Amino acid sequence: SVIVKKLFLDGIMVTVNQEIDFEKAQEIALGYDIIAEPEEKIDVIEELLKEEDEDESVLVPRPPVVCVMGHVDHGKTSLLDAIRDAHVTDREAGGITQHIGAYGVSINGQRITFLDTPGHEAFTAMRMRGANSTDIAVLVVAADDGVMPQTIEAINHAKAAGVEIIVAINKIDKPSANVDRVKQELSEYELIPEDWGGSTVFVPVSAKTHEGIDNLLEMILLTAEVLELKANPKRHARGLVLEAKLDKGKGPVANILVQKGTLHVGDYIAAGACSGKVRAMMDENSRRLKEAGPSTPVEVLGLNDVPNAGEILVATETDKEAKNFAATFVSEGKNRLLEDTKAKMSLDDLFSQIQEGNLKELNIVVKADVQGSVEAVKQSLVKLSNEEVVVKIVHGGVGAINESDVTLAAASNAIVIGFNVRPDVTAKAIAEQEGVDMRLYRVIYQAIEDVEAAMKGMLDPVF
Ligand code: GDP
Repeated sequence: SVIVKKLFLDGIMVTVNQEIDFEKAQEIALGYDIIAEPEEKIDVIEELLKEEDEDESVLVPRPPVVCVMGHVDHGKTSLLDAIRDAHVTDREAGGITQHIGAYGVSINGQRITFLDTPGHEAFTAMRMRGANSTDIAVLVVAADDGVMPQTIEAINHAKAAGVEIIVAINKIDKPSANVDRVKQELSEYELIPEDWGGSTVFVPVSAKTHEGIDNLLEMILLTAEVLELKANPKRHARGLVLEAKLDKGKGPVANILVQKGTLHVGDYIAAGACSGKVRAMMDENSRRLKEAGPSTPVEVLGLNDVPNAGEILVATETDKEAKNFAATFVSEGKNRLLEDTKAKMSLDDLFSQIQEGNLKELNIVVKADVQGSVEAVKQSLVKLSNEEVVVKIVHGGVGAINESDVTLAAASNAIVIGFNVRPDVTAKAIAEQEGVDMRLYRVIYQAIEDVEAAMKGMLDPVF
């Protein structure tokens, strides 16, 4: 009542339930020797998404998260099925397997988590949203077919993401299989087998006969051991929405990969614009779980809405925090909230980015109508590197600019250069949506000139 009176004397007629502006509140507070500070809503988000420097002592090993990539028909789905059939954890529990975006297998007590949406599109779509889901990529190459365009795409997507690649040479049961040819072809992409003096693990397998599958799993575990993957299980959970849908009976269902901490039934959660409380959790065998630790995929019920794939899920201390997170996500625009979000690269502001020291590497995706042009452009562009910025071709290939090219560019902060090729409809739409700079040329030297000019801050503006 003292404050209301004070305000009244200042000509502000308010009741105790009304809001006043911050400046006025600050002024009054000062009269009581109190410093008022505006509540920064965004802090909630930053606080929750902050990567605490976790003390080594709290970190424990976690299972590797593995995805399967490769050319169409080389056997990605068959391989995932074969692994699942042979090794699904606790099969004796008799659960009905369901698709929750990932599944776990157990080999001699050690776990591996497989993302069961094959292909690099899903993987890179997530990275495009700032989320890294995978530790190891299994590159499937059919022994009777060898390296194909999507094999190369997959290699470049995996490399751009910095994930470890293990090669599974599949279909070795076929009489026309030629393992050495695959090794030979892949060595052109810096994937050199250990028996040839390189450091890439190659495992011949057959998804059909299951030959080599145990060996592949062992190699994954060995690779994971070297990577020393660890997480702190004793903190609020943080994970990734692999996929989500609205189920008639269950309501919003989100398939989550827990990445850090442990998610419990009853935890308050937020993912993107959605919030809620974990009502129930199920694993891939439809068994109910009370808790899920790092690298565990779970189906989560209890969100108030359907989040988007690739969004980050956080568990919070209170209901209010979770709601705040979702509200801020909406008001601030989700880009603000994603970790590792960078301004999308454009040739137009390349120079200022270099000047500000923000850019040390110019990533480029090159597509052309013939292989000769791809190589010529790659070489000329790489030569433009100087002390300030290194030009790096994250992918080069023949054919129209496709979805994979644009998502890779978006995820790697790259620009796309096309010669005598056009983007397809999907690629165009994604480029617009994600703000990917796509430049089309008819002559090679013009592209080189443009990139060179952009690097020197002398690119003529396009009107
Ligand atoms: P994806 O497109 O990479 O997911 O490939 P799929 O898993 O759908 O396999 C494509 C085709 O290859 C299917 O007809 C499979 O039955 C077949 N296939 C997959 N793995 C093997 C294998 O190890 N041996 C043989 N002989 N066929 C295979």
